[in-house]
Amino acid sequence: MNTRDISFSNKNRAVRISNCTEQRWDLIVIGGGITGVGIALDGALRGIKTLLIEKQDFASGTSSKSTKLIHGGLRYLKQLEIGLVRETGTERAIVHHNIPHLVHPETMLLPIVNGGTFSKLSASLAISVYDMLASVPAKDRKQGLNKSETLAKEPLLNTELLRSGVTYSEYRTDDARLTMEIIKAARREGAEALNYMQVDNFVYHQGKVIGVQCSDKLDDTTHEFLATQVVSAAGPWVDKLRAVNNSTGGKSLRLTKGVHVVVDKEKLPLEHSVYFDDFNGRMIFAIPRGGVTYIGTSDTDYKNDLNRVLCTSEDIDYLLETANTIFPKARLQSHDVISSWAGLRPLIHEDGKSPSELSRRDEIFESDSNLISIAGGKLTGFRKMADRIVDLVLDKNPSLNKTSCLTKDYKIHADSFVDYDAFEQYWKQLHAQYASEGLSKYYAWYLVSTFGKNAASILAEASENIKGDYMEAVIKAEVLFAIEYESATLPDDYFNRRTGKLYFDIKSLNTHFDLIIDTFADYFGWSEGEKAEIEQKSIQFIKDSTEIKSESMQLA
Ligand code: FAD
Repeated sequence: MNTRDISFSNKNRAVRISNCTEQRWDLIVIGGGITGVGIALDGALRGIKTLLIEKQDFASGTSSKSTKLIHGGLRYLKQLEIGLVRETGTERAIVHHNIPHLVHPETMLLPIVNGGTFSKLSASLAISVYDMLASVPAKDRKQGLNKSETLAKEPLLNTELLRSGVTYSEYRTDDARLTMEIIKAARREGAEALNYMQVDNFVYHQGKVIGVQCSDKLDDTTHEFLATQVVSAAGPWVDKLRAVNNSTGGKSLRLTKGVHVVVDKEKLPLEHSVYFDDFNGRMIFAIPRGGVTYIGTSDTDYKNDLNRVLCTSEDIDYLLETANTIFPKARLQSHDVISSWAGLRPLIHEDGKSPSELSRRDEIFESDSNLISIAGGKLTGFRKMADRIVDLVLDKNPSLNKTSCLTKDYKIHADSFVDYDAFEQYWKQLHAQYASEGLSKYYAWYLVSTFGKNAASILAEASENIKGDYMEAVIKAEVLFAIEYESATLPDDYFNRRTGKLYFDIKSLNTHFDLIIDTFADYFGWSEGEKAEIEQKSIQFIKDSTEIKSESMQLA
C-alpha cells in the first residue's frame, strides 16, 4: 500500500495556502498539538471539512514535551480523580490497538520504600482499583514483589530504603510522532493542516467568529481563512487567544513547567520504568529507552516566555537529587545530563492548590462570540476530548450533518500493524534483510517504531542511493521522508519532532548534523545566507536542550 502523500510537503506551500483561502471550511482548529490533531481527525472522519492551523511546527508545544506515557495516571487516584483515571485508563488499550508501532507495552515498577507515599497495602489497593477502572486484562494486572524480587528486577534501587515493590502495566509512546501520525491520518480523511501559520486575530460577522487572520511565519505574508466554527486547541496559549477574542471571563489557565533530563543508559541502566517519590511525595519516573534513560518530571509554576521554555540548573539539581536517593549507586551528576526538555501543562486555575494538586482534567470554554476553546487533559485522553468537542461543534451548528464518533476502532497509520507481535516481527525481519548493508538492530527497531512500515521504503531508497557510508544514505532518506511526506520544514522539525533524535540519539544527530542541514538546503533551494541563518538557529535549538541554563536565563 502506498502510504506516502507528497501533497503535505511545504515545497507546495503557496498552492496549499491558496487552496485553503479559496474555500469556506466547516471547522478551523487552532493548534497542532495532540488536542488539535485529535479534533481534526475526529472531524474529518465525520465528514466535516476541517482545516488545522499551527503557528510553529506540529507538536512543538507541550505535545513533544510530555513524559511520553499513555497512562491512566496512578497518582491521580490519590486526588480521587476517578473519572479522569477511568477515562484515560480505558483509553490506553484503545490507543495501543489503533497504532501499535508507536504505543509500546511497558512494565512499571513501583518500589515501596520507608517513608514513601505508598505502603505495600496502599500500593496494592491503589493499583487494583487502577487495573479495575481501566479494565486491564488479567495477564497484565499488578504483581506484588518482596524486597529481593524487587532488587532482582532493578539492582540499583536503594537497599536501605527499599521494603518491597509492585509491577503494573502502562504504555510508552513518542508524543510528537503520535501527533504527526494523527494529523497525517486526518489529511488522509480529507482535512488540511498548515504548520508555521499563526492565528493573530479572528474574523467576525455580526459579533460571531467566522474565521481567522493569520501570518505565515516562513515569509511574513498574511492570510484569512473562513469557517462555520472555530475551535482553539492552543494548549498553554489558550488564554492568549481568549484575550484576543475578549473572552477571558470565568476560569483561567495556570501554567506549570515540567522538566525531563536524559542520561546515558550506562549511567542509569534500568530494565523497567520505575515510578518513585521525591522528598515531598511527588511521583517521578525514570524510563529506559534505547541507549538512554530519562527522568522526570518537575512541576513548578511558570510565568515566563511560552515560546522558549528551558530546563534550568535548579530543575536538574532537583531531578538528580531525587534520582540519586532512590538509585544511590548511580551517583548522577549534572555533567551526566546529555539533553533535556521542558514543557508547560495548561492546567485550570484552582485557588489555594499547589501545582501538583491541580486537576489534569480538560476544560471547554465557549465565548459569546462563538469561539470554542479547550485546554488541559492528557495526551492519553486525546480521542475522548476530540469526541466531546466535535459533538459540541455539531450541536452548535445544525447546518452540519450529525454523525457519531468513528475513532474508537480507527487504525491511525495507513498501513498499520495488526498488533504488537506483528510490529516486533517486522522490525526483526527488516534487520535481517539489511544487516549485511550495515543496519544495526537498534536502528531497525528505531526506524519501524518511528515510521511504521514506511521504514521499508526509507531503507529501500537508502540502498539505491549509497554513495559511501551506508548510514549517511539512511539518514538522508529519513530526512527526505520527513520533508516530503510529513511537512518537516526546518532541521529542528526532523531531529526534534519527526524522530526525537535530539533526546534519544544525540550522538547520531551530532555525527550527521551537516548532512541534515545540507539535505534541507538542497531540497528547499536555500541560498548560502539562508542556510547559514537556519544552521545557526538549529545549533541554538540543540544548545537549549543540551546546555545547562541558570534560572536567570529562563527569566530573560
Ligand atoms: P500543545 O501541545 O501545547 O498544542 C498547542 C499548539 O497550539 C502548540 O503547538 C502551539 O504552537 C499552537 N498555537 C498556540 N497559539 C497559536 C496561534 N495563535 N496560532 C496557531 N497555533 C497556535 N499526558 C499524558 O497522557 N502522558 C504523559 O506522560 C504526560 N506527561 C506530561 C509531562 C509534562 C511535563 C507535561 C507538561 C504534560 C504531560 N502530559 C502527559 C500532558 C500532555 O502532554 C498535554 O495534555 C498535551 O500535550 C497538551 O496538548 P495540547 O494539544 O492541548 O497543547
